[in-house]
Amino acid sequence: MRTVPFNRPYLSERELDYVAEAVHNGRTCGDGPFTRRATALLRELTGARHALLTTSCTHALEMSALLLDLRPGDEVIVPSFTFMSTANAYALRGAVPVFADCRPDTLNLDERLVEEAVTERTRAIVVVHYAGVACAMEELGKLADRYGLALVEDNAHGLGGSYQGRPLGSFGDMAAQSFHETKNVQCGEGGALLVNDDELAARAEIVREKGTDRGRFFRGQVDKYRWVDIGSSYLPSDLLAAQLTGQFEAFGEIQRRRTETWRAYHEGLAGWAAANGVGRPTVPDGCEHPAHLYYLMLPDLDSRQAFIAHLAARGVQAPFHYQPLHDAPAGIRYGRPAPGGCPVTEQAADRLVRLPLHAGLGEEDVAYVIDAVREFAVREGEVR
Ligand SMILES: *Cc1c(COP(=O)(O)O)cnc(C)c1O
Repeated sequence: MRTVPFNRPYLSERELDYVAEAVHNGRTCGDGPFTRRATALLRELTGARHALLTTSCTHALEMSALLLDLRPGDEVIVPSFTFMSTANAYALRGAVPVFADCRPDTLNLDERLVEEAVTERTRAIVVVHYAGVACAMEELGKLADRYGLALVEDNAHGLGGSYQGRPLGSFGDMAAQSFHETKNVQCGEGGALLVNDDELAARAEIVREKGTDRGRFFRGQVDKYRWVDIGSSYLPSDLLAAQLTGQFEAFGEIQRRRTETWRAYHEGLAGWAAANGVGRPTVPDGCEHPAHLYYLMLPDLDSRQAFIAHLAARGVQAPFHYQPLHDAPAGIRYGRPAPGGCPVTEQAADRLVRLPLHAGLGEEDVAYVIDAVREFAVREGEVR
C-alpha cells in the first residue's frame, strides 16, 4: 500500500553544499555570512524594513513581548485558534492573553470581536494568518491605531502570502516567522522577527544579543560592547542560516509544487465536499496565500474522527489541528476568553482535518489522496 506522509521537509540541491561551506568557514556561530545572505533573501520576500533570524518563531514572539515592554497584568488580544506560542510568549512576561474567537470562513481572528475585547490594560493585538490567508488587516490596523495598540503578526503560515498586494509580515509593528521543519521554508528549528519600525529595530538587535550592543560594536559604532538592556540569546547558528539560504533560493520551486497540490485538492474535492456537507478553505478577495496547508471541515467530531481513521487505513496521514487555547489548562491559568467566548474555535478544533501537503508530493500521491478522500461518505460515517 502507498503511504502518504502529512509532511516531509523539502531539500533542494543547495542546502548540503551551503552547510558544508559554513562548516569549512570555521565560523558557525550566529550572524555569519550565511545569516547575512538568508536575511537579505527574507527581507526581499517580505518587504520588511528589518529582519533578524532567530532560533524559532516562538523566540521571535518572545522578543516581541520583550520589545513591547509588557508588564504583569497588561493584556494582549490573541486568537484562541492558534499554536500555544502565540499566547505563551506574552504570558511569560506576565501579560494576560485575552482569547478572541475566529471567523467561521477563514478561521482568522474575527476582527468584529476585537473592539469588545479591548480594555484599559490592552497593549497589543496579535494576529495569525491561518493557512497563510490574510486576516482583515485593514480593519485590524484601524482598531490598533484607534486604541493605541501594537499590532504583531504571527506569520508562521504566511511567508510569501499577501493582502491587497502587500506581503504578509509587513503590516504589523513586528511579525514572527517560523522555519520549523513543518513550514514551507525550513531549517529544522528556526525563525525570524521582522521589524517594521526603526526604533524597535535598534532595540531588537540588542534584545537578540543577550541585551548587549554587540551589533554596534562589530560595526565600529561603539568601542566596546556592554550589557545595555534585558535580552537573551536568540541567534541561530550560521549552519542553520546556510540551510535556510538554500531553502530561500528554492522558494519559487517549493511554492510552485505546493500550490499545484493545493489547487488539485481544491478542485478535485469540490464535488465530494458539496455532496457530503464538508467545508473547504475560503480565500477572500485580495488574499494571495502561500499554500501552507489544505484543510477540510467535516460536519462534526465523530465524522472527523472516522474520516481520519479511514484515511489512515489507506496510508494517508491526515491530522487534526489546533485545540482551543482559551479552555486549555494553561489558557485558563494565564488567560481569559474575550466576551462571548470562542464557540467558532471550539467547532473548528473538532471538525478540521489537514491533508498531506509538502513540496515532495508527486502527482500520483495527490491523486491517491483525492481518491482515498472520495471513498468516504459522511452521511453513514463510513466507507461506501
Ligand atoms: C509553527 C508555529 C509557531 C511556532 O513556530 P516555532 O518556530 O516552532 O517556534 C507559532 N505560531 C504558529 C501559528 C505556528 O504555526
